[in-house]
Amino acid sequence: MTVKPGFSALAGDDGAEPTAAVDYRLAREATLQAWRSGQLKRHEVCDAQRELHRNAEFCGRPTERQCPVCEETDLVEVTYVFGSRLPKHGRCVTTQAEMQRLERRTAPATGYEVEVCTGCGWNHLIWRRELGG
Ligand SMILES: [Zn+2]
Repeated sequence: MTVKPGFSALAGDDGAEPTAAVDYRLAREATLQAWRSGQLKRHEVCDAQRELHRNAEFCGRPTERQCPVCEETDLVEVTYVFGSRLPKHGRCVTTQAEMQRLERRTAPATGYEVEVCTGCGWNHLIWRRELGG
């Protein structure tokens, strides 16, 4: 299953269609379903690491989607790029210009978008896409 990235910064800089992303919404629904049915405990689905919390606060993009778990806090989306000559923990991308620079690199890299609740710690991968190369 593929989907176009929702983050406009991931559009090609020449107006070309971005590479299709792998969509993780079904996996996300399955995780939420497992939590609602009691197969997963809340601490198992709300396990955002400190680093992810910090990135969500400093380079996340706020959404108007409410957290599906605590239903109290709006979700934040964080985009990461991992690849050679990038930080080991990935680079947290906040601007379209930065994403375009990463797109133009010849070294392959992978972009990930994660949604995070800074209230309860819920987090899940939304999509993944190959960049550059
Ligand atoms: Zn929450």
